Amino acid sequence: MLADYSYDEMKLYAKVKNLPLFRGEQIFDAISAGKTLDEITNIPKALKEQIEEDYPRYKIEEVFESKDGTKKYIISYPDGNIVESVLMKYKYGYTVCLSTQVGCRMGCKFCASTLNGLARNLSAGEILGQALLINRELGGSKKNRMITNIVLMGSGEPLDNFENVCKFIDLVTSQRGLNVSQRNISLSTCGLVDKIDELAKKNYNITLTISLHSTTDERRKEIMPIANKFSIKEIIGACKRYYDKTGRRIYFEYTLIKGVNDSEQDILRLSNMLKGFNCHVNIIPLNSVKERNLIGSSRLEAYKFAEKLNEKKISATVRRTMGEDIEGACGQLRNKILKNRG
Ligand code: SAH
Repeated sequence: MLADYSYDEMKLYAKVKNLPLFRGEQIFDAISAGKTLDEITNIPKALKEQIEEDYPRYKIEEVFESKDGTKKYIISYPDGNIVESVLMKYKYGYTVCLSTQVGCRMGCKFCASTLNGLARNLSAGEILGQALLINRELGGSKKNRMITNIVLMGSGEPLDNFENVCKFIDLVTSQRGLNVSQRNISLSTCGLVDKIDELAKKNYNITLTISLHSTTDERRKEIMPIANKFSIKEIIGACKRYYDKTGRRIYFEYTLIKGVNDSEQDILRLSNMLKGFNCHVNIIPLNSVKERNLIGSSRLEAYKFAEKLNEKKISATVRRTMGEDIEGACGQLRNKILKNRG
């Protein structure tokens, strides 16, 4: 599929297809603009027929808009799979939250993305396609990019699809493509330690975010199966190595679940664990998932939790919740649609 190709690879494609080089450039630019084959005006029909089977056929199936302006897109691929992407408007611009896999095999107890397991990985171009389609929807063009920030926090575990996610980062930051700055990309992981070290070697300027959610390995194992493989200590170790290599401040996500990870002891352990480390903690009130019987703490409790961390000199804030009325949390909307499909 042609969205997987870098600019240089596209020129090679043109060569293999016996096309003049500028045709490769035109195809690359059309894909970067989020155009369908029909919408391209500067390519003859015969050539369109020649590239049709390789041209991207991802598309926006449905859009749900929240009262707060957050939009959720259902994006489909030609094999019938669907993923969710979320668009959030902030003062400084637009952030898109992209999915990296169809479903997920990490099995976190509070997360809807993993309820049906992993269907398949997304290719680099399929991840990119989500951003290109949304940028186009916003009226953006290549010269006037609307999307400012990208977070890999949709469905899937990005580091479980390592090669494709890295290729995606290369594509979306390429000058001829969307040209998003690496500094404006965040990758969120449940903590695959070996892959965090691999990522550090890439020396990207992206932000690493860790879904921590617990302060003891025992508790973490109860809600995140990956904790059976890697301990919190190993994860923090990998974060420190990542920081030493890239100089990028690490972010931790901590979803507050009533009676599970919200005690005074948790505050103490969290602050001891992170003391002196250049990091920030995002406290997220749990977005309850019907299929799971976990209850989120209230916003007020979240503020108190963050405040107590601040008192212990740990930088922490409460994440704004957005799009709650449109099943905003990971994988919730896709599940609803799959259910309705029967
Ligand atoms: N697999 C990656 C990225 C996807 S999840 C990861 O684990 O980080 C993105 C973030 O949303 C994670 O921090 C995840 O723990 C959180 N999340 C998932 N379901 C949630 C829910 N129901 N309420 C609040 N946060 C949730």
